[in-house]
Amino acid sequence: METRRLFDEDAYVKDFQATVISIEPQSEASFVYDIVLDQTAFFPEEGGQSADTGRLGAGQVQDIQIKDGVITHQVLFEDSEKDLPKVGDMITGSIQWDRRYTNMQNHTGEHIFSGIVHSKFGFENVGFHLSDNSVTMDYNGMLTEEDVRFVEAQANAAIYENIEVRCEYPDRENLAQLDYRSKKELSGAIRIVTIPGVDVCACCAPHVHRTGEVGMLKVIGFQKYKGGTRLEIRCGWRALQHYRDMLEQLQRISQQLSAAIPQIPEYIERLMAENRRLAGELREVRGAEIARRMQEIPAGQNHVFIYAKDIDSHQMRQTVNELVKEHGGYCGVFSQTNVDNIAYIIGAASMDCREVGTTLKERFDAKGGGKAEMIQGAISGVDYDTIEQYLMGRYSS
Ligand SMILES: [Zn+2]
Repeated sequence: METRRLFDEDAYVKDFQATVISIEPQSEASFVYDIVLDQTAFFPEEGGQSADTGRLGAGQVQDIQIKDGVITHQVLFEDSEKDLPKVGDMITGSIQWDRRYTNMQNHTGEHIFSGIVHSKFGFENVGFHLSDNSVTMDYNGMLTEEDVRFVEAQANAAIYENIEVRCEYPDRENLAQLDYRSKKELSGAIRIVTIPGVDVCACCAPHVHRTGEVGMLKVIGFQKYKGGTRLEIRCGWRALQHYRDMLEQLQRISQQLSAAIPQIPEYIERLMAENRRLAGELREVRGAEIARRMQEIPAGQNHVFIYAKDIDSHQMRQTVNELVKEHGGYCGVFSQTNVDNIAYIIGAASMDCREVGTTLKERFDAKGGGKAEMIQGAISGVDYDTIEQYLMGRYSS
């Protein structure tokens, strides 16, 4: 027997009573039971929307699934012996309302947005996902930034008009005459959600009574996706939460920089320019240090390994090239790039550097590669003195 869908009749039912049709443990050791009721206000996972949560009797509802019209509640009973309902018992269900209501706000928001995209651009919403921390729609056509801004403005205008949202099951004759979205892939009684002048769409989910309840709709991201566009939105309470989170982060940055929020972009540009200038200065200082180090190396020394803190790969390679001109053996430059990592570049005029590479891999688990005349890589968790001692012991002449 199909479960009576109380959320179809009234999306605002928060608490309800129902009779237990069946109750089965999910497994012998489990405290989670599959419960079927004669009627329910819990919306199951359906049409891209995640299932409602809440309490059923003394249990915590963990998931709701629907199959062939039968809705199964997966319920956790901590103290199963005492609290477990029996077949035929009357039981009370309570939906976690704030979560469900914001799902309704976001789902109706999606209909408004998709209805406008459909009428303005002719694209379909081919993938909809609504969960606690994400609301995404995939349209089978490309929307530009300007298009998205246009639809967002139109959607919010429809919200402020506070239009009635009607959910009904039209008879076959009326249905045949209706032009609605999601016309394909549907069988059985079809529920049509109508927002006059904005959207007509087949949908099984609970919606708010009037568009004004959506509060606001904000697009927070969009990208090309499978030849079309993926959009992320926030509506209602979730839009407010998103605004709070963003503002909090901006305020934190503002405090750290001691700059008012509108001045942040300019301030960061200045910081980055200063950073580039300092990096250039540091490069010069390191370069002078390396030049001094190179002069200290006896002219006749065959293998040479030197260490410099924080130099970039360009500077490392330049130094190796200069060393190779003066010394016939392996010429290596090592540099600490972060606390735990030493990068290296090793070159040679007429020897195969891959031999040193293999040695470093075997001895220090080095990661890297290269060609006969030059190799590069990195070693983690070893200090430079250990590496140098080992290399000078092996390539001492
Ligand atoms: Zn829908």
